[in-house]
Amino acid sequence: MLTLFPEMFPGPLGLSLAGQALDAGIWSLETIQIRDFGLGRHRQVDDTPAGGGAGMVLRADVLGPALDHARTLNPEAPLLYMSPRGAPLTQQAAHAFASGPGVTILAGRFEGIDERVIEHYHLREVSIGDYVLSGGELAAMVLLDSAIRLLPGVIGAAESLDHESFEHGLLEYPHYTKPRDWNGHPTPDVLMSGDHKKIAAWRQAQSEHITAARRPDLLHSGTRPTPAKKP
Ligand code: SAM
Repeated sequence: MLTLFPEMFPGPLGLSLAGQALDAGIWSLETIQIRDFGLGRHRQVDDTPAGGGAGMVLRADVLGPALDHARTLNPEAPLLYMSPRGAPLTQQAAHAFASGPGVTILAGRFEGIDERVIEHYHLREVSIGDYVLSGGELAAMVLLDSAIRLLPGVIGAAESLDHESFEHGLLEYPHYTKPRDWNGHPTPDVLMSGDHKKIAAWRQAQSEHITAARRPDLLHSGTRPTPAKKP
């Protein structure tokens, strides 16, 4: 994790499921302080944008040596740059990161980074949504959390992952628990029927209904697996 704020890590990733997995050695994290590669007595990392304009830009001659160093730690890992211009982070991408050799992530700050770094290192730009954060650290944590929870051994019942939103191109069905009746709102009868076939069919119908109402784009995104043909 290349950042100007290594003290932000592991942050929330040190708690709960990700934190337990970190303690158990299922995943690990190394932070690299970009400023260690800064220039001069003040370890300068940024400068004014070429062509003028507001803000500062992280320098290529600082990020280059920092990325070279990161590559020696995990040469196989893809180099990612958290960026609002990047490809949106998806559940599919999270699965790919979880089954890969790890990731090296660069967190930007200020106006961003010198474009030549992206080109030279073929950085893969990843966005966590259509809004602008002050830095790439929180975005990196989102990416890491989405992948860490998919690592074997992080979540107890592997089955609970299979039904989650986006796994089959659908949003998840609604959940209920005790009490059976709460403030005049009963749990749907079908869930208390004990008929697992009926319950599965109800949940599938709910998933399809909610997806069609809230995220019709998912139904047409081509991420849904083709249903198995009946023999
Ligand atoms: N000037 C940039 C722009 O308009 O696209 C925004 C720079 S932002 C203030 C500083 C850093 O935050 C970026 O370099 C990037 O690393 C990170 N960042 C901001 N929004 C992000 C998002 N939606 N997804 C991923 N990273 C983001």
